[in-house]
Amino acid sequence: IFTFDLMLAQMLQMQFDREFDNQLRREEKKFNGDSKVSISFENYRKVHPYEDSDSSEDEVDWQDTRHDPYRAEKPQTTPRKGFTGKGKNITTKHDEVTCGRKNTARMDNFAPEIHVGDGLGMDLKLSNQVFNSLKQHCYSEQRRSARLHEKKEHSTAEQAVDPRTRLLMYKMVNAGVLENINGCISTGKESVVFHADGGSLDEQPVPEEVVLKVFKTTLNEFKNRDRYIKDDYRFIDRFSKLNPRKVIRLWAEKEMHNLSRMKKAEIPCPEVVLLKKHILVMSFIGKDHVPAPKLKDAMLSSEDMKTAYHQVLHLMQQLYQECHLVHADLSEYNILWHQGKVWLIDVSQSVEPTHPHGLEFLFRDCRNVSTVTQLGV
Ligand code: ADP
Ligand code: MG
Repeated sequence: IFTFDLMLAQMLQMQFDREFDNQLRREEKKFNGDSKVSISFENYRKVHPYEDSDSSEDEVDWQDTRHDPYRAEKPQTTPRKGFTGKGKNITTKHDEVTCGRKNTARMDNFAPEIHVGDGLGMDLKLSNQVFNSLKQHCYSEQRRSARLHEKKEHSTAEQAVDPRTRLLMYKMVNAGVLENINGCISTGKESVVFHADGGSLDEQPVPEEVVLKVFKTTLNEFKNRDRYIKDDYRFIDRFSKLNPRKVIRLWAEKEMHNLSRMKKAEIPCPEVVLLKKHILVMSFIGKDHVPAPKLKDAMLSSEDMKTAYHQVLHLMQQLYQECHLVHADLSEYNILWHQGKVWLIDVSQSVEPTHPHGLEFLFRDCRNVSTVTQLGV
């Protein structure tokens, strides 16, 4: 019955839109008559021929994150108890109008892949039944798409990211920030990393070789990582107000901030070029399209290995004392060997030592560094 309800609603809406458009066409014709100059009503159509699902997205170009471009409107959720207000003004969850509006607002919390359309912008009221079936549909859709994505990743680099991300990437090429996007260097659980040729940004040259780290918009993995960001006081009041898609941007932003701190302390690490939504562009560690090996894969003489070990210890100290950071995922996987020294990468999850789990993470980092096969001395 729920599905039927939803289908019926959709069909009615479609019918309504079509009728509206037809009426518009008639009016357009009447308005223009035989006149040589005609005025198009195209833009008022509901079913727009060039409908672009992305066009309503907030297009924020930003590098300056002192202002918070991602503050969510106002979080609207239904209260747990099923009612709000007091005495006569009480509103229960059975109040159709209020509830309907709230349901519409809650659609904003659906997964990023779900296009909720303009419902949020208008005074659309969804009944609980319709909302619940929509929600159910989204969940199963998410699971289905997660399965699809897993398969896709093994095909070409292009397909490793969703269309929305691809569009953002192309825009960077169009804007000349990048000359060309080459191939995929790595696809991990939480990110996809591409190699690209740098162009120029604000008339400043971008490093010749850069990487794009695309934070993944499949949410499941990120859920497990919430604690790295939720309790980070720098992000705490923003986290709770954001919908999932925007939380992913926070990860990218966090990595950017952490890298900048590290640069200041002169820790060898990628240099931030540009942050755009969930895509972080930074300098490439490596040469001629060949990325520097992870410490795990680097073939080092025992002499070099010792040097590397001591460098890592020094970096950790600098990271803690000068940058006020704990890496929180430090291992031979996130350290690259390049130009005879170690480089730190992958700091989106790094936290300040005062983080509730800060010292626990630090301990784990220390343990990883001192016990791994390659590094351990
Ligand atoms: P993840 O969170 O997916 O582990 P990382 O930041 O560790 O993301 O990047 C994944 C892999 O991509 C790294 O192990 C490394 O091989 C490569 N990589 C990431 N950043 C760079 C960079 N700036 N230069 C060269 N290779 C990089
Ligand atoms: Mg990594």
